[in-house]
Amino acid sequence: MATIVTRRTALRGLRCRACGALQPADERYVCADCYGPIEPEYDLASRSAQELRDEIESGPRSLWRYAPLLPVAEPVSHYAVGWTPLHEAPRLGTAIGIGRVLLKDDSRNPSLSFKDRPVAVAVARALELGLDTLACASTGNLAGAVAAAAARNGLRAFVFVPATTDDEKVAGAAAYGATVVRVRGTYDQVNRLCGRLADEERWGFVNFTLRPYYAEGSKTLLFECVEQLGWRLPDHVIVPVGSGALLTRTATAIAQLKGASLVDEKPCRIHAAQPAGCAPVSDAVLDGYRVVRPVRDPATLARSLAIGAPADGDGSVAAICESGGSAASVSDADVLECCELIARTEGLLVEPAGGVVVAAARALARRGVFGADESVVLYLTGNAYKGSFATPRLTDVIDADSDEFRSAYAGVLG
Ligand SMILES: [Zn+2]
Repeated sequence: MATIVTRRTALRGLRCRACGALQPADERYVCADCYGPIEPEYDLASRSAQELRDEIESGPRSLWRYAPLLPVAEPVSHYAVGWTPLHEAPRLGTAIGIGRVLLKDDSRNPSLSFKDRPVAVAVARALELGLDTLACASTGNLAGAVAAAAARNGLRAFVFVPATTDDEKVAGAAAYGATVVRVRGTYDQVNRLCGRLADEERWGFVNFTLRPYYAEGSKTLLFECVEQLGWRLPDHVIVPVGSGALLTRTATAIAQLKGASLVDEKPCRIHAAQPAGCAPVSDAVLDGYRVVRPVRDPATLARSLAIGAPADGDGSVAAICESGGSAASVSDADVLECCELIARTEGLLVEPAGGVVVAAARALARRGVFGADESVVLYLTGNAYKGSFATPRLTDVIDADSDEFRSAYAGVLG
């Protein structure tokens, strides 16, 4: 019989990125000295790289295999989030002019987006703190992830979304039993409302009061890619950017793996993908890695990326610069075309954010960013079935008659 092992964290405390103070991991979510952002710091010195690797490889087929590199212990009861496939995508690669493309298909998580990862870590922390209510500000996918995790753990959930959020995503979150609050205004206005409520209510606001923990869950995409590549870093990663948390934690994950000697020292370039109608990070990168200027009125069909004032915007620009990476901003027309392209070449239906990533990869390839033998990982973070996507041209309805079928589809049958 297998022994049940509680998978522990190597968390040392929370380090302030502004003043450098190390703080205990209690209920604080900003630095007690300067109100700066605080991030988990780990003590991995007592384990060799081989011990750490063995511990990870013997773990569950979920993100909890990386528990030593996460800020919470593995929760007792949780569904399997993470350990999603990394596919070679030669047909897409040929179509967009890249020698080796790999797709990290994170639309396969329980609520069909990568947001299940940060939420899994945030919920584990909420349970440690004994909170009974979860909440979030969301552009859609996070709402579903929080609502699903709350249902699974018997917690109450309030999710706040802009009124323009896709109906399918709102309906999904409501179906899990969450109270869905639709707010007039942009995501950034919803975010400000939640910031106020987070001060007034003792709720687990996953992207405010639990943010130091929540953001760490995003590291696991990169961890998995590396393990799936045989403990090798890819040469390039293309990351869709909304708040910037996924991009900055991709950089953190790379640094952590290098620090623990789990991978060789070699460059892994991080590139940002944003829609032209809301590209504060890509614009800053392409404009010489300058400071991010907020976009007041985001206008893009990639609504999950419509965050005009990204919390980790400047952090993303710095991480890209340090990695030697670049960025692309792509039109909505290119996004739709690339949603269709990935569906037709690789059999995957992605939400517009995925189209943004594919279109950005194509734009970067045209600029000669990738070497012929280099591996390029594309993060696909959400499934098309959750919301509006490129609607294919539907054909007329036919009778159940083979002759009618053959005549209606003569062009396809050839
Ligand atoms: Zn501080």
